[in-house]
Amino acid sequence: MNNELRVIINKLIKNHSLTVDEYEKLISLRCEEAAEILKAEAVNLRKKIYGNKVFIRGLIEVGNICKNDCYYCGIRKSNKSCERYRLTGDEILACCENGYQLGFRTFVLQGGEDAYFSDDFLSDIIKSVKKRYPDCAVTLSLGERSRESYERLFNAGADRYLLRHETADEEHYRKLHPEILSLKNRIACLENLKEIGYQVGCGFMVGSPCQTAKNIAKDLKFIEEFKPDMCGIGPFIPHKDTPFRDEKSGTVELTCYLLSVIRIIHPNILLPSTTALGTVEDGGREKGILASANVVMPNLSPVMVRSKYLLYNNKLNTGAESAEKLQQLKKIISDIGYEVVCDRGDVIK
Ligand code: SAH
Repeated sequence: MNNELRVIINKLIKNHSLTVDEYEKLISLRCEEAAEILKAEAVNLRKKIYGNKVFIRGLIEVGNICKNDCYYCGIRKSNKSCERYRLTGDEILACCENGYQLGFRTFVLQGGEDAYFSDDFLSDIIKSVKKRYPDCAVTLSLGERSRESYERLFNAGADRYLLRHETADEEHYRKLHPEILSLKNRIACLENLKEIGYQVGCGFMVGSPCQTAKNIAKDLKFIEEFKPDMCGIGPFIPHKDTPFRDEKSGTVELTCYLLSVIRIIHPNILLPSTTALGTVEDGGREKGILASANVVMPNLSPVMVRSKYLLYNNKLNTGAESAEKLQQLKKIISDIGYEVVCDRGDVIK
């Protein structure tokens, strides 16, 4: 291995921190040996804190109507081929009931940015879920909202919020989003969520169009400094009805490498092995767990709408990605030496 890389890896393991330039080299100089060293360290750290537990979250895709037009996303508003839907409050509660029976103790409500999901509407649902299932956590992933809105939803009982920062580089942010969206506002939302008291998750796509090693280095520095409780990273996958239809997918290799690096930066972090990772390659989900991811989020949406929440081509929603097949997921996870547990799975501080 390149000697400079060896020095950087040792520094990361010792300090849980690097400069942006060092992160960039950690990425651009990477080799198989480096990946193995980082993976071993990451897995060891995860084991000390979380043992061999893998937490599960029931993902409810509440709607695919979105006012935004992010160039990478299959449910962007300009996509006329997307068949739109919204779940009613009763449908969302029915998903939770189904999930609870299956053993889920965290429900993630994710969707496009849609005024239909008003504070009143969501507060009612959150309160009902928390009343019926006091032993469950509610996670929201509904994009950018005002501070007041985040406060109201928190006061209604929401525990966590997932809002990927998407890229920590202004210029790169511009290449992925229309003018009206800004990195500044994205970060302001994340800061608000944290101040309000949510457990917060940021994250980014690996291999998104125009992404450089420098961009990823900035993402890692941002994650290091922001200290999120959770971090969602998965490969970018093109969607056929978006401006990025002809772009290449991100790789399992780089995603897993970065999962290990993020685990070393913040040993206690909750890291999902994402659906996108399972979609780009058979066995990708398992590779994510083996690189130190400790969360999986099977799909708990009504079966009828699953094929409509298509963020990217061929998005998995069957087999171990579907909540009903939890037994299948448990077996896959236990075959690689880990154990799916049915509890809230909060971050251990
Ligand atoms: N509207 C919510 C939820 C968005 S979907 C929000 O803004 O947070 C959740 C995540 O899916 C996004 O943050 C994005 O990082 C990811 N995603 C969207 N399109 C994708 C694609 N083509 N490939 C991989 N991931 C994608």
